[in-house]
Amino acid sequence: MRKTLPVVLAILAIVVGLFLRTFSASPLPAPGPLTGAWPAATPPPGMSVVQLPTGVTHRSAAFAYRGGSFTDKRDFSMTSVLVKHPRGDLLVDTGFGRDVVAQLELMPLAFRAITSFDRGPSAAQQLDAAGYDRRGLRAILLTHAHWDHVSGLPEFPGTPVWVTAEEHRFIADGGMVTAVARSLAGVRYEEYAFDGGPYLGFARSHDVYGDGAITVVPAPGHTPGSVIVFLTLPGGKRYALVGDLAWQREGITEREERPWPLRSLADIDPSAVRDGLRHMAAVAARFPDMVLAPAHEARGFADMPRL
Ligand SMILES: [Zn+2]
Ligand SMILES: [Zn+2]
Repeated sequence: MRKTLPVVLAILAIVVGLFLRTFSASPLPAPGPLTGAWPAATPPPGMSVVQLPTGVTHRSAAFAYRGGSFTDKRDFSMTSVLVKHPRGDLLVDTGFGRDVVAQLELMPLAFRAITSFDRGPSAAQQLDAAGYDRRGLRAILLTHAHWDHVSGLPEFPGTPVWVTAEEHRFIADGGMVTAVARSLAGVRYEEYAFDGGPYLGFARSHDVYGDGAITVVPAPGHTPGSVIVFLTLPGGKRYALVGDLAWQREGITEREERPWPLRSLADIDPSAVRDGLRHMAAVAARFPDMVLAPAHEARGFADMPRL
């Protein structure tokens, strides 16, 4: 017994050391530079964006990207984005809905154990309180179908929910990570295709209104049908709503993927996520004025107007 204890402790120390190493900085290889101008866009004068913050989860930088500190506390924003467009408004994701507490019960116990959050009014409640005319809402566009992005869908009965075919399938057969999406009754999904050509180095794209103002590109990896939404506003302001490709902006600016335990849990294809991070790093370097807005990055929404 006396002889085996040091051996056990040594093995334990090695295992803990190896585990902690998966949280250490390890930048992905730098991408080749992106060349060319921002794609042509003629956003209509009435177009604007508004953020609808619905709550936060309490995390740390270490949770989000390799090299992040455990002591660097970060509140992950749960923010829905209303894109106002004369041809029909879009809501990008919903953030927390009013039933999020009950919905969270459908998530794995281990996930619930590490998830504490604060919530505010849902996107629908905020829109209603502001007197927003829902007839102007053309659709809800999902960056992907995880619980914290779909939670508020039931509060928009009848509004089409735009998803890629891959994500629609994932909702049906994605196991526990799409259990919340599967549980929502009465959601009217509509699939769209990437019917447009290359966009900022992405092979395919979908230009929602044909004016270049709202362009969606495929960014699979976190989920099979994850997308990035690029917005070009009148006046030239640009946003990249990158969903959960990265949870905080350093994932892209420092090319740091999620630590091993987190990407094992959260990403369906970590290799594809790496490709997406490297590519978006090139886009961000080419267009430093573009606001990089991962769905849970409070700093990405800091300057976006509220209702
Ligand atoms: Zn996600
Ligand atoms: Zn998320």
